[in-house]
Amino acid sequence: MSTPPSSRPLPQPTRETAAYWAAAQEQRLVIQRCARCGKCQFYPRAFCISCLCDEIEWIDASGLGCIYTFTVCRIAPSPAFASRLPYVVALIDLDEGVRLLANILDANLDRVAIGARVSVCFESVSESCTLPQFTLLD
Ligand SMILES: [Zn+2]
Repeated sequence: MSTPPSSRPLPQPTRETAAYWAAAQEQRLVIQRCARCGKCQFYPRAFCISCLCDEIEWIDASGLGCIYTFTVCRIAPSPAFASRLPYVVALIDLDEGVRLLANILDANLDRVAIGARVSVCFESVSESCTLPQFTLLD
């Protein structure tokens, strides 16, 4: 007898991340840029990690990038992920120069590679939560 899968853990927006998750709900990938020094950053913070000022603005990212590194999960970390196996977890270097963690959806595992070009897509996981994810280009 198997136990029913637990529900998938979902992000809990904070003061710093609320704008990021709200944009994702609108199928937009946003990152922070410092209004003073112009550096982009991810994950969201209340201040610029380059010059420490708090003049942070949100910009729409291109959604394009490449795989910095990845792993293929073949064992679910919890029952909530069992139906997704195997799945790819990747660090993505966006063209804007920031790195983020996401899944590569619907990937042919033979084509997932370091340096492969990817494009953002959006996975609706609940009525109030949409996750920026990625797919392989070409
Ligand atoms: Zn700055």
